[in-house]
Amino acid sequence: MALLEVKKLKVYYQTGRGVNQAVDGISFELDQGSSIGLVGESGCGKSTTVKGIVRVMPTNAFIPEGEVYFNGSDILKSAEKEMRQLRWRDISIVPQAAMDSLNPVYTVRNQFLEVMQLKGDLNKKQALVRAKELFALVGLNSDLLNYYPHQFSGGMKQRAVIALALALNPRLIITDEPVTALDVIVQHQILNELKELRQQLGLAMVMITHDISVVAQTCDQIAVMYAGKIVEKGKGKQVLKNPLHPYTMGLKNCFPNLNQPNKELIAIAGSPPDLIDPPPGCRFYERCPFAMTQCQLEEPGLEELESGHLSACFLREDIDQYRNKAKEVETWLQVII
Ligand code: ATP
Ligand code: SF4
Repeated sequence: MALLEVKKLKVYYQTGRGVNQAVDGISFELDQGSSIGLVGESGCGKSTTVKGIVRVMPTNAFIPEGEVYFNGSDILKSAEKEMRQLRWRDISIVPQAAMDSLNPVYTVRNQFLEVMQLKGDLNKKQALVRAKELFALVGLNSDLLNYYPHQFSGGMKQRAVIALALALNPRLIITDEPVTALDVIVQHQILNELKELRQQLGLAMVMITHDISVVAQTCDQIAVMYAGKIVEKGKGKQVLKNPLHPYTMGLKNCFPNLNQPNKELIAIAGSPPDLIDPPPGCRFYERCPFAMTQCQLEEPGLEELESGHLSACFLREDIDQYRNKAKEVETWLQVII
């Protein structure tokens, strides 16, 4: 049994202009100890997916359909009281802008003690021992517990927030853009540490990022999201080496490749569709260099084209030729927005 099973989850927002179909029927599974990266550009629904899973949503958000099984139970049906117990203890979150989530007026030590005493039922002495253990785990000197957050560097704050998320031995950790605000060297260190911690503690992880190179370094599986849908899903290496969906091919071009540092970065022209009134066919149609008439009329379903590797695109044969074309800047210049 998978630890987390998300089935046809929809999370919508009620807005003044209508209903924004931010997450529109996505499914994925995660086993104990494994990791999945949700990747896609800004606004594709990554954060909304996570908010829906843990049910920490703005008041205008609602879940019209879907199931989320954690350890076999559908937690979308759980009472709020049970969800409160599940958060931190079983599922913990490193939120977007996590570095700013530490309270500036308390020492880091007091923030750790508060979480462990309130949520973990530890007494002060036990909580302090645990806080020191956690700091050691993420490579921070325990003397730093007595500091205020503003005395930490960005990387130190991010490590502290990760340590806090691990405080109650969760089984699943969800990280939203965990290294976005950090320089590349610290990014690399933190990602390696996250990977090691996961292996050491047998943790499952959902990582959200817009940067496909970040998931490449950290996750076993990748789900590429576009305009509220998963358009490609598979093992990390499969998706990165042999992308099946034109959007993934384009996304790869947008980030530097460490093996080809001089390679030109190619942007995908245009922007995603308005999710209040999404188009009827493929949501990538307007920006896709390989679009066909069928794509405008019908919506492609997510189909398994190779073992464990799925794509929601009508291109199902001779994908190599499209991959090669997608590496050329001219291919993307043809798209008229
Ligand atoms: P980013 O990387 O910028 O955080 P994302 O992929 O996480 O982007 P979401 O933040 O989940 O995307 O947003 C998905 C869609 O939902 C977008 O169209 C966004 O404008 C919309 N949205 C997000 N929050 C709200 C809200 N509170 N009310 C209305 N619409 C919202
Ligand atoms: Fe492009 Fe058509 Fe595939 Fe959509 S279905 S990604 S428009 S080729």
